[in-house]
Amino acid sequence: MARITLDSLLSTALNRRRSENLLRTLVIQPQDARDFASNDYLGLARSTQLHCRFLAALNSELESNLQIEGKVLGGSTGSRLLSGNSATAVNLEAFLAHFHNAETALLFNSGYDANLGLFATLPHPGSSVLYDELVHASVHDGLRQCRKGVVIQKWRHNNVGHLEELVWDQVARIESNASRYSQLPGIIVVVESIYSMDGDIAPLKQIVNLMDKVGERAGGLHLIVDEAHSTGVCGPQGRGLVCQLGLEDRVFARLHTFGKAVGAHGAVVLGSSTLREFLVNYARPLVYSTSLPMHSLIAIRCAYEFMQEEAENLQQKLTQTIKHFRAQLKFILPSGIESIDSLTAIQGIIVPGNKRVSQVCSYLQSKGYDVRPIRSPTVPKGSERLRICLHAHNSVDEITGLIREIAIACTNIRDTEMASLSKL
Ligand code: PMP
Repeated sequence: MARITLDSLLSTALNRRRSENLLRTLVIQPQDARDFASNDYLGLARSTQLHCRFLAALNSELESNLQIEGKVLGGSTGSRLLSGNSATAVNLEAFLAHFHNAETALLFNSGYDANLGLFATLPHPGSSVLYDELVHASVHDGLRQCRKGVVIQKWRHNNVGHLEELVWDQVARIESNASRYSQLPGIIVVVESIYSMDGDIAPLKQIVNLMDKVGERAGGLHLIVDEAHSTGVCGPQGRGLVCQLGLEDRVFARLHTFGKAVGAHGAVVLGSSTLREFLVNYARPLVYSTSLPMHSLIAIRCAYEFMQEEAENLQQKLTQTIKHFRAQLKFILPSGIESIDSLTAIQGIIVPGNKRVSQVCSYLQSKGYDVRPIRSPTVPKGSERLRICLHAHNSVDEITGLIREIAIACTNIRDTEMASLSKL
């Protein structure tokens, strides 16, 4: 029997996905592209004003800290639990807790790491985790690592009726096993404030009402909200959707990421001091990984200070962009092309099939519009899409031009396919 090398197994897996080069570079120069792809919703990552502030802050930190911590511009040199902690990190956490109106804050190297740390460690044996079917891959990956004896179920996207059915089933299960536990293990409910692919908003108030109905039964409902796509774009000064709705006290843990509207990198988990202490002890991505370097911490602090001043103005501009996009879409897009119903900065236009959606994006890029394809399996087969991210800085002309080109690309593809069918 021929020896199967690992390389050939990898090639077989790649063929199954019909993988092309996913790490595509743009066919246009980034500086010439009109940005409809980045998660830089408020334009902070491209703000020269913010960059200048960042460089100034870096310099002053460098001068004052060289003698104290001795590693300002290098890496952080270790995990937070060893040599990687710093006064800058601790102060930033205090600032973030205060800004987001939370008891404590704990930094992670990325949103992915934070979700991995949270969901691998929080669920206790006997408890249930009920997640919206569209939550991010990092939640799934965390749950895959969690302890045995946890019941994990998904509920239909944004369908609180379905969530409620599952909740009562789990209340009954936990209560019927009550004699096994020293303490009832409770139910964790997981949502995103704004969903990363469909751009719709979680029904947080309805979920909180459900929490009230359940009360202490089975150990209660504990809500975890991933605010990755609402950080900066929702709430006063960009504090997020939970703050906008005044639900800070009702949410067990919140995740804010810095790689999107904050224009930086990293993430923070907000919650009680017990939660923080627990994660510091158990969350492996925090314990076993080198922490964020000083320049990242300073970039996050500067971006947040900038957000405090500018977010509301930028949010208004973004709202106008979204309104304009939605209005133009109705007006220009040919019938038969489906768009996802979203009122946020994340908009989707369905172009079924990985090859077709990639073709449409290549065409748009050749016309100067940076739009990226979202392919299966990231979204379900048949719902492959153009994920169009809108920004405070997109102009009316850019939007009109983009939608016109989308209409041309989709019509061209349809015509080509019809022509090749008629030749059969
Ligand atoms: N949660 C959600 C909802 C996300 O969209 C993302 C990023 N795509 C993450 C978590 C991970 O965040 P990060 O990019 O900081 O790892």
